[in-house]
Amino acid sequence: MKRREFITTALTFTAASTFPEGNGFAADFPAVAGSGDKISLSEKAVVDFQKNIKGQVILPSNPEYEAARKVWNGSFDRRPALVARCADVSDVVSAVQFARTNNILLAVRGGGHSYSGQSATDGGMVLDLSLMQRSEVDPGSKTCRLQGGALLGNLDRAAAEHGLATTAGFVSHTGVGGLATGGGHGRLMKKFGLTVDNVRGVEIVTADGMVRKANAAENPDLYWAVRGGGGNFGVVTDFEFQLHTMDPMITSFSFVYPIDAALDVMKFYFDWDTESPDEATTSVGLRRNAKGEASVSISGAYIGTPAQAEGALAKVVKYGKPTTSRIAATNYVAVQSAADKIFAHGRNYYSKSGFFNKVDSQLPVAMLDYFMKNPVPMGSIGAASHGGVAGRVPENATAYAHRDAKYEISVSVDWDDPADSAKWLKYSRDYWAAIAPFSDGFYINQTTDEGSDAIRKNYRGNYDRLVEIKTKYDPTNFFHLNANIRPKKKA
Ligand SMILES: Cc1cc2nc3c(=O)[nH]c(=O)nc-3n(C[C@H](O)[C@H](O)[C@H](O)COP(=O)(O)OP(=O)(O)OC[C@H]3O[C@@H](n4cnc5c(N)ncnc54)[C@H](O)[C@@H]3O)c2cc1C
Repeated sequence: MKRREFITTALTFTAASTFPEGNGFAADFPAVAGSGDKISLSEKAVVDFQKNIKGQVILPSNPEYEAARKVWNGSFDRRPALVARCADVSDVVSAVQFARTNNILLAVRGGGHSYSGQSATDGGMVLDLSLMQRSEVDPGSKTCRLQGGALLGNLDRAAAEHGLATTAGFVSHTGVGGLATGGGHGRLMKKFGLTVDNVRGVEIVTADGMVRKANAAENPDLYWAVRGGGGNFGVVTDFEFQLHTMDPMITSFSFVYPIDAALDVMKFYFDWDTESPDEATTSVGLRRNAKGEASVSISGAYIGTPAQAEGALAKVVKYGKPTTSRIAATNYVAVQSAADKIFAHGRNYYSKSGFFNKVDSQLPVAMLDYFMKNPVPMGSIGAASHGGVAGRVPENATAYAHRDAKYEISVSVDWDDPADSAKWLKYSRDYWAAIAPFSDGFYINQTTDEGSDAIRKNYRGNYDRLVEIKTKYDPTNFFHLNANIRPKKKA
């Protein structure tokens, strides 16, 4: 269906829609099926669904619709037929059953930060978990129970109140739901493992509408799959995380150098970082400010005091002639939200990224070459270190397959005017084409336009097992707006 056609018909329906009591709900309204076909949704079914849940069914006529349909990335300006804002696990069961019974395309939304717009849909239904953000820390067992719609800030803050922490990502308004099912890279990953390594168990609503526990003792196959398999296996309504004792004060550091020194700085960084300890997550980046001025930097975080960091970073401290350098104590929770405004909601974003298991001598050359030839205000490329505890977990211990990654390199652009989208997408894709030959796969939480063959290859030896588990729990591929693992076809 053309978008304009869908919008017009949906609005016609909603003008008459006030959820009247009683019978006589003959009107149907257009929607999109899981197959992509056009369907009609009965108004009565929607009214019954609303009556059945504690949360809210939001239609295009509701004043909340404009806000409710939006996701973090303004590039995905989509208009679902309805948004089901679930208040608890029984609402999630009702929403899954409603979508199945009515054959409507389902997008599951945790924090709405999918780079590829997987939690937004034109004409489908959004199962929105944003009302489900409760957290509960048990300091005795150092665990945190967190509902499936929580944001990373909820996790960081709840844990920090007890002098505890676990690995979460770099921007606090990102959703736990997507991050903790796909992987979970962050400042603590070399010390405490990926976020998925700290998931002790989940409560999950599977495609048949059943509420299941998945942990080491119950449904261990599902437990294995949800730690890296993304949203393929159901809607996680509750996570249990392992927390770790950590001083809330850590150290952040940054050394900025003139762009003329970029190649030397990158080569130095990649040599030095092989010996950086598990306490240090580091990165090297090329970026331009709004005036178009370019620089190269080595930056990161160290779990410890500034004095300990200076010791661990001694070679960096002595290296070259930085234009600015900083090693300072910082509060972990504060630094976890320091970039929140840079990644503001509603702007247009695009990023290509991949894992690198080794650094070819030509990789820094390729990174710099394209950056210099194509001056893009606010464009950046950076390599962030991996390894440590996250890298010592066996590749088949969880569905997340890239334990041998040494770095993740990302090319990122952001812009305001949608008319510029084609230009920035081309820039990023062309840039990535120069870097991709050195890459060893990608992070499924950063997928943009990778196809199903690439996803299969990317899961390496874990793919066949994922297919078995997908076939068992979601044989019709009901949950397919994700980095999709296709179930086996019926014989
Ligand atoms: C600004 C920004 C910063 C980021 N930083 C990091 C980082 O530091 N480290 C890192 O590892 N990643 C990072 N990412 C990537 C991030 O992990 C993914 O974008 C992730 O999918 C976001 O989760 P979400 O719940 O916000 O996404 P959504 O858009 O809500 O969902 C994305 C996918 O996850 C599934 N999903 C969401 N919630 C659930 C749930 N409760 N149960 C089952 N499936 C669910 C959805 O079905 C969908 O397929 C970042 C992304 C952004 C936009």
